[in-house]
Amino acid sequence: MRQTFDKCGIDPRRIDRRAISVLSQLRSAGFEAWLVGGAVRDLLLDRQPKDFDVATDALPDEICSIFRRARIVGRRFRIVHVQHGRHVTEVSTFRTSDDKDGVRVASSSEDLRNQARVVSSDGVILRDNAWGSQHEDALRRDFTINAFYYDPLRDELVDFCAGYEDLKHRSLRLIGDPGRRLIEDPVRILRALRIAAKLNLSIEPGTAGAMHEHRHMIEKITSRRIYDECLKLFMNGHGEDSWNLCQDFKLTDQLFPSRNGLDTLLIRRALGNTDLRVRERRPVSFAFLLSVFYFHEYQAFLEQVPDNTQGEDPHTIASTLALDEVKNSMAIPRYVGHFIRDVWALQSRLESCKRPNRTLESERFRAGYDLLALRAETGSVEERTRDWWEDFQVGGSNERNMLLRDAGRTQGTAAKRAPRRRRRNRSRVRAG
Ligand code: ATP
Ligand code: MG
Repeated sequence: MRQTFDKCGIDPRRIDRRAISVLSQLRSAGFEAWLVGGAVRDLLLDRQPKDFDVATDALPDEICSIFRRARIVGRRFRIVHVQHGRHVTEVSTFRTSDDKDGVRVASSSEDLRNQARVVSSDGVILRDNAWGSQHEDALRRDFTINAFYYDPLRDELVDFCAGYEDLKHRSLRLIGDPGRRLIEDPVRILRALRIAAKLNLSIEPGTAGAMHEHRHMIEKITSRRIYDECLKLFMNGHGEDSWNLCQDFKLTDQLFPSRNGLDTLLIRRALGNTDLRVRERRPVSFAFLLSVFYFHEYQAFLEQVPDNTQGEDPHTIASTLALDEVKNSMAIPRYVGHFIRDVWALQSRLESCKRPNRTLESERFRAGYDLLALRAETGSVEERTRDWWEDFQVGGSNERNMLLRDAGRTQGTAAKRAPRRRRRNRSRVRAG
C-alpha cells in the first residue's frame, strides 16, 4: 500500500547539494526522481547519511544523456555514476523483481549476458536489470526501512512497505517472504547485521528466524563480496556490536573459517579500538583488523612448523598456511595479504627486542606495534615488552641507549621464552 507523508521532519541541511542537483535535472528532463535507500532512512532518524542514492524512471542511457559527466557501471546490477568533481552520485533505474516475464535460470554465459533478470538453479540472483515501476522498485529492496522515496524539493515521503511504522518501532524487517529474500541474495544476512548494529535496531522475529535458518547460504556469497561486506561490517564504527550479532547468529566460524580457532578476546579488543578510532575520526585499517582476526591461526601454524624447513623461513611458511585457509571464503587483495604477513612477521622481532632500530624503521612498525599492544592487553605478551617499545619509540638517543642496555641484560627472559616453548610443539604440520 502506498502511503505518503509530508512534513516528516527531515532536516534539509543534511541533504547533499549535488544529490539535489541530480534530482532537479532529472525532473526538468521530465523524469521521476527520488532520494532512496539508506539516506532517507538515516535522514528520518536525524542522522547524517553516508551517501545519497537517487532512483528514477529514466533508463541508464537516458540518464547519461542528461548529465555531462555520467557513465554506466556494473553488469550484475547496472547503475549510472553521475560525477561532480571527484564526488559520485549513484543513480539507479526503477527495477522489478516480478517474475511476470519469466525469470531465466542461467544455463549458459550467453543467458547471463542477454537476460535482464537471471537466477541460478538454487535461487540466487545473478543479474538484476529488469526495469519496473516505483512500486516494484520498492518491493525488490531488502528491508522495509530501506524502501522509502523522498522528494526534498516538495518535502514528500513515499512508503510502500510500511517502513515508517517499523522505523518508529526500531525494527528491521525484510520485505516479503524472509526466507525467499535471503535465498535470492544471502548478502542480505550481512546487511541485516550491519544495519541493526549501526542503528541499534532489533531484528524482527520473522527476519531473525530466516537468518538463522538460512545462515549456511553465506557459503554462496562470492569471496569478493564477503571481503567487501566484512569491511563495511567491521569498519563502520560499530564493529564490536556487529561481531556480537555475528556470534548470536553463529556466523563467525562461517565468515572466518580457521583450522585452529579464533582468539575472540583479541578480536573484540581490536574491534573496540577500531570503533573508538572511528568515533575520534582517526584513520583505521581493515588490513590491520584482518591481521588480528587470523593471528591465532598464524601462531598455531607457526608452532607446528617442523624444525627442518630446508632454509625456508618458518614465518613465511606459517603465514602462507594461514592465508591459504582464508582464501576460499574471503578474497583478500594481494597488497592486504602482504600487509598482514608483515605485521605477523614483526611480532617475533618486537618480542625479541633485537636490532630495534631496524624494526623501528620497518614500514609496518606502527601496525606491528599496535598488534603487540593488543596482545599485551589480552595477556599473550608481557606488558613490559610493550612498555619497552613504547619508551623506545619516543625516547631520545640517551634513553634508547639505556633501553638497549636493559634489553641486553634481560634478553633471554620474556622475549626469548616464547620461541623455545614453540619449538617443543613443532613437527605436527608439514611445511608447504
Ligand atoms: P549505508 O548507510 O551503509 O549506505 P544503505 O542501506 O544505504 O546503507 P547501500 O549499499 O548504500 O546501503 O544500498 C542502498 C539501497 O539499495 C539500500 O538501502 C536498499 O534499498 C538497496 N539495496 C542494497 N543492497 C541490496 C540488496 N542486497 N538487496 C536488496 N536491496 C538492496
Ligand atoms: Mg547507502
